[in-house]
Amino acid sequence: MGGISLINVRKSFAGTPAALDGVCLDVPECEYLTLVGPSGCGKTSLLRVIAGLETPDSGEVLLGGKEMRTVPANERGVAMVFQAAALYPHLSVRDNMAFPLKLAGMGASAIEERLRQVVLTLGIEGLLERTTGGLSGGERQRVALGKAMAIEPRCLLLDEPLASLDPSLREAAGAELRRIQRRLGVTAIHVTHDHAEALALGDRVGVMHAGRVVQVGRPREVYERPVNRFVAGFVGTPRMNLIEGEIVRNGGLCFRASERCMLEVPPHAAVRLGEHAGRRVTLGVRCGDVRVSGKGHAGDGAWEGVVEDLRWTGDGVIATCAAGGVRIEGRAGEQVAPGDRVSIGMDLARVHFFEMGAEGRAIAHGVA
Ligand code: ATP
Repeated sequence: MGGISLINVRKSFAGTPAALDGVCLDVPECEYLTLVGPSGCGKTSLLRVIAGLETPDSGEVLLGGKEMRTVPANERGVAMVFQAAALYPHLSVRDNMAFPLKLAGMGASAIEERLRQVVLTLGIEGLLERTTGGLSGGERQRVALGKAMAIEPRCLLLDEPLASLDPSLREAAGAELRRIQRRLGVTAIHVTHDHAEALALGDRVGVMHAGRVVQVGRPREVYERPVNRFVAGFVGTPRMNLIEGEIVRNGGLCFRASERCMLEVPPHAAVRLGEHAGRRVTLGVRCGDVRVSGKGHAGDGAWEGVVEDLRWTGDGVIATCAAGGVRIEGRAGEQVAPGDRVSIGMDLARVHFFEMGAEGRAIAHGVA
C-alpha cells in the first residue's frame, strides 16, 4: 500500500501544448481523490504517467514513497480501469479476471481463492461463466473493476469509470465504488469531467485546468472557497454567476458592473478590495444566493432587469435575467414570467471576488 505523489511532472506530445504542465499532487494512502477538469486538460495523461504507460519529460512520480522512473508499468502495483473497459469479449468473466494473475505466475487454486473474494465483494458470482461480450455496460464495468481488484493493486486509477453506465445506475455504482475502495483500503484516483460526481465521491477533489492541478481540497472547500475564477465557474450546478466590473469609491467602496448595476462592497471583502480600487475585478455569486422577484420586492441595492428565460430544476425555478448589460441567473419566485421586469437581489454576505482573467485568483470569499 502507499500514497501517490507527483512532483512537477511535465509531459508534452508533439504538436500540442503541454498535456501536463508541472503537475504537483499528493494523494495520501487510502484516500479516494476525484480529479475533474474539462476535456483535454490532461486527466488521462496524468493517470497514464502514474501507471507507467507514459514517461514524463521531467518531474517525479512516487508510489509508496518510491521513485518510479525506472520501474516498469507491470511492477508498479497499479491497476487502471478505463471507461472503455479493456476486456476480451470472447472470454468468460472468470477467464478475463484470471488472465493477469496467470501471467503473474499464480497457481490455479490461489487464483480461485482470489477471484472468490473479489466476485463476492462485487456481487458478480452469477456472471462468472458468461462471456463479457454479452454483458450490459454496468456489468462490464463491475467485471473490469473486479479484474483490477484481483491483482490487489496498491493504487487504483479509474478513468471515467461511470461514464458508460446508464445515468440511473451511476449514483449507486459510484457509492459502490467507494464502499469497495474503503473495504480494500486502496489509494484511488478517479478521473471524471462531471463536477457533481467529483464532489459527491471524493474524499478530496482535484481540479485540473490546462495541464495543471489548480486546486485540491475537500469537496466543500473547493465549492465554497474556489482558489480562482476557473474553479469557481467550473465546479457547482448551476454554474456560479461571474460578473466583471470596476471597484470604485462612491462614498463607500462599490462594485460597478454598469451604471445601473452597482453594489456596496460587503464587509467581508472591503479590506482586500480596498487595494483594488480603480481596477476591474470579477464578482462571483451562486445562483442560489440571487433572488429574482416581482419589481419592488428584492430590497435595497437590488438591480432591475428583465427575465429572458426560465428553467425548472425540480426543486425550484431558475431565471436568466438581463440587467443593464449584465446577464445573471437567480432563483425565481413562482409568479415570475419571461419578459417580466424584475428586481434582482443578492445575499451580499455570500459573494466572492476574483482578479480578472480566466484564472484570476480569489480576492475574497463569501461567508459559507
Ligand atoms: P478527456 O476528458 O477529453 O478525455 P483529458 O483531460 O483526459 O481529456 P488528455 O487525454 O490527458 O486529456 O489529453 C491532454 C492533451 O494531450 C490533449 O491536448 C490531447 O490531445 C493530448 N494528447 C494526449 N495523448 C496524446 C497522444 N498520445 N498523442 C498526442 N497528443 C496527445
